[in-house]
Amino acid sequence: MGVHKEQTTLVIGGGAAGIEAARMLGQAGYPVVLVEKSNRLGGVLNQLASSFPRWEDPVKFVEPRIKDLEQSASVKVLLESTVIGCQKTENGYQVQIKNINGAVEELQVGAVIIATGFEMMDLSGYGEYGHGAFPNVYDSLEFEAVLKEWSAGKKPEKPPVVAFFKCVGSRDRSKGYPYCSKICCMYSAKQAGLVKDLLPEAKSYVFYMDYRASGKEYEEFVRSVIEDKHVRYVRGRPAKVLPEDDRLLIRCEDTLMGVPIEVRADYIVLAAAIRPSRGTTEMAEMFGLETDAYGFIEPEPFQAVKVQERVFLAGSCGFAVETLGALQQGAAAAAQAMAVLNQAD
Ligand SMILES: Cc1cc2nc3c(=O)[nH]c(=O)nc-3n(C[C@H](O)[C@H](O)[C@H](O)COP(=O)(O)OP(=O)(O)OC[C@H]3O[C@@H](n4cnc5c(N)ncnc54)[C@H](O)[C@@H]3O)c2cc1C
Ligand code: SF4
Repeated sequence: MGVHKEQTTLVIGGGAAGIEAARMLGQAGYPVVLVEKSNRLGGVLNQLASSFPRWEDPVKFVEPRIKDLEQSASVKVLLESTVIGCQKTENGYQVQIKNINGAVEELQVGAVIIATGFEMMDLSGYGEYGHGAFPNVYDSLEFEAVLKEWSAGKKPEKPPVVAFFKCVGSRDRSKGYPYCSKICCMYSAKQAGLVKDLLPEAKSYVFYMDYRASGKEYEEFVRSVIEDKHVRYVRGRPAKVLPEDDRLLIRCEDTLMGVPIEVRADYIVLAAAIRPSRGTTEMAEMFGLETDAYGFIEPEPFQAVKVQERVFLAGSCGFAVETLGALQQGAAAAAQAMAVLNQAD
């Protein structure tokens, strides 16, 4: 078996996972076309104010990798572009890539890496928490933007009370998301802790049913948010949010203490269930890929990232994953793509 670097690998989606896949292939000298539908690389990481479990700046995951892509002679990045069609060929796929101006480019590729990511569930089915009806009720991704503003110095005049609701939609069959979304315990702890870092006089409450922190340094991270930053964890699921003067009244039973409690909050942040992005659904249909019951792309049995003979997944198009996991899957998908391209003789 020789080394074959003639065939191009198509990477669809330029978030953490797609960038890493393209970067690894590029570093090894394999031709890559990375297609990203928005006008910048980085995906959801661009929207984050800080990163668990080490309070890192998310930009630091993205910028050096983008620099590597720019410096690589074998990587071509197409922004504001997406794949609109594909046909199976003997050695891979013939694909059609359309850019924002409507121009369509034809490309023959030997391997495809799908890295089209995730989105948060639509909260309009959660009327009881007032998202969309009351100001200052955010989903967790929207609240990252608020935290970014506060980090940049645009802070509220009075120290606010911020309440985080976990498991919103997730683990709830009636909402259609019976699974645990995996990352929201951690990012809710991060957001609640960051509020206290930025505004030490503020109060942060986290309403939880469970708390899952099973990753390297995760348990210590949540503990330090509770013990060092004095975020208050309340075990209970808020029943309803009601507007009261210019605040939001939360009624909940503290199921550890067995007492009803009321909190008047200035901000409510809903850790909503994570589901496949529209792009993930579209690419799964276009390439005829297996998906699970919720639409996440499913690898072949006993495979980590291989979905079909020449198609691999990377990152949260397969399920909710933290940044490190997305990078690991990107690297794994790149390695498998190289292996399949090298089987050419
Ligand atoms: C509120 C919140 C806070 C978080 N905080 C942390 C944290 O502190 N630490 C941590 O480790 N993780 C955190 N995460 C998780 C982290 O954001 C993800 O692990 C990471 O962004 C996943 O990267 P990805 O590449 O799989 O997906 P994405 O970032 O979603 O990237 C997918 C990319 O694909 C593009 N795309 C989609 N469809 C198409 C298409 N058809 N054609 C071309 N391009 C397409 C999208 O535009 C996007 O750029 C957080 C997540 C959320 C929601
Ligand atoms: S990760 Fe935590 S907040 Fe998210 S669904 Fe699972 S238990 Fe609930």
